[in-house]
Amino acid sequence: MDCIFCKIIAGQIPSIKIYEDDRTFAFMDINPRSDGHCLVIPKKHAVTLWDIEDDELRVTMVTLKKVALAIRKALNPDGITSFQLNGKAANQLVDHYHVHLVPRWLNDGVDMRHGLQPGDMEKIKGLGAKIAAAF
Ligand code: AMP
Ligand code: ZN
Repeated sequence: MDCIFCKIIAGQIPSIKIYEDDRTFAFMDINPRSDGHCLVIPKKHAVTLWDIEDDELRVTMVTLKKVALAIRKALNPDGITSFQLNGKAANQLVDHYHVHLVPRWLNDGVDMRHGLQPGDMEKIKGLGAKIAAAF
């Protein structure tokens, strides 16, 4: 299947992994909205919230919480924005269900409406390692 996130799970495309279990995977977003922005995905391919099986959704949400706790421990943000887009009209770019976790700090000025901007890969790797070590 020609899905970039399925390829990341399979290790065919490199990623900065922060967590993996038998059914879910989490990795750093390479166009981060804030320091520590990462994505949580089910390993079983599904495109949107409409398609994902209930059980896959459940395990993805449990991992989402684990990752959010690791982010809190590693980066001590004031908050976290979690969001998930469905369909072109909602600006979904990658057709494999994923939930964003965007750490937030008071008055950080993060604007979710801005387009994608590539981050500094060395910085992202460092933040990823810090989060991965906090599970
Ligand atoms: P969206 O489908 O709009 O919810 O967002 C897709 C997200 O995936 C964007 O924030 C991208 O920066 C991110 N993304 C796309 N390709 C990669 C990749 N190879 N590694 C990490 N993040 C990616
Ligand atoms: Zn996929």
